[in-house]
Amino acid sequence: MVLQSELFDITIIGAGPVGLYAAYYSGLRDCRTKLIEMYPGIGGRLISMYPEKEIFDVAGHPKILAADLVRLLTEQAMQYRPTVVLDERVTGLRLLQERVIELTTPNGLHYTQTVIVSVGCGAFVPRKLDIPNLIDLEGHGIHYFLTSFEALRGKRVLIVGGGNSAIDWALSLVGIAAEVTLAHRMYRFHAHEARVAMLLASKVRVMFPYYALKAVLGEDRVTGAVIWNERSGKEEEIPVDAIILSIGMLTNLEPFRAWGLNIAGSGIAVAPDMSTNIPGVYAAGDIATYPGKILLITAGSGEAATAVNSAKEYILTGDLGR
Ligand SMILES: Cc1cc2nc3c(=O)[nH]c(=O)nc-3n(C[C@H](O)[C@H](O)[C@H](O)COP(=O)(O)OP(=O)(O)OC[C@H]3O[C@@H](n4cnc5c(N)ncnc54)[C@H](O)[C@@H]3O)c2cc1C
Repeated sequence: MVLQSELFDITIIGAGPVGLYAAYYSGLRDCRTKLIEMYPGIGGRLISMYPEKEIFDVAGHPKILAADLVRLLTEQAMQYRPTVVLDERVTGLRLLQERVIELTTPNGLHYTQTVIVSVGCGAFVPRKLDIPNLIDLEGHGIHYFLTSFEALRGKRVLIVGGGNSAIDWALSLVGIAAEVTLAHRMYRFHAHEARVAMLLASKVRVMFPYYALKAVLGEDRVTGAVIWNERSGKEEEIPVDAIILSIGMLTNLEPFRAWGLNIAGSGIAVAPDMSTNIPGVYAAGDIATYPGKILLITAGSGEAATAVNSAKEYILTGDLGR
């Protein structure tokens, strides 16, 4: 028997930008809200991976530092005083009865009528390359993301990848690093066209297309890289002090499958109202997937608002509302 005082209306798992916006919107809809985050701090990847990077594509902000966006999202989210639980990873989700869901964390149980899963990539590891000394040199010149640009001041930096993140790292480091090179092995960039144009017009040396990282040089720390052209077979050794591998993330979706959620491709499958296959459970942000999905903060914020509205409707009407 769950006490009414323990039962929240909406519990949001994950306090990244999407979870924070969901917390705000849930308060706006007069829902008793709980936000659970597995790290001691909030902000998701904006804080853990790129606090100093500028973001250009959030509605209403021509340019904003990731850490500043998190500060504003937090201010907005806290207006309605949600209960915030930090440093607790949600490890289990179980539907006990209609409008009563039990969440498990190492510290105990949480009860809620509805859940919004906004865990980003969940438990993820950066995608790596099969290069023998790569892992040994992690922390000694091999990076997967940057929490501080200052560490690379005056250094020669190689960025591997051709997505938005790779291009953002390259452009952010111009004027800080001594030299910036970007190598991309595909025949086109998977990035916003305007940023690609900026990259090509910048001081960054762009090795593209078909240029891949073949070897990392250095014993105690990175001293260089061998780049090869996969078409011509031609190799070039370039001296570098740091290499940023920006080639994506590997997400472990097994925990969500174990909760009974339907998985499609790289995320939790959702309907247009952001509902999952479990009644009362919704998903939003990078973890939610549907045809046409894009992985952007702005898109995730829209999904969060939809998820909250759907959850509110479900609270008011139960399964009849579905
Ligand atoms: C280098 C880089 C640059 C980017 N630049 C941009 C950009 O310029 N513009 C843009 O729109 N997007 C950008 N993105 C994408 C953007 O960061 C994501 O779309 C956004 O972070 C998704 O937000 P989210 O809240 O869904 O997930 P996240 O930011 O990943 O937050 C998820 C949160 O959930 C927590 N969590 C996970 N599992 C659990 C659990 N079991 N229990 C409790 N908490 C849990 C995590 O700790 C995390 O805090 C970039 C991404 C990267 C990697």
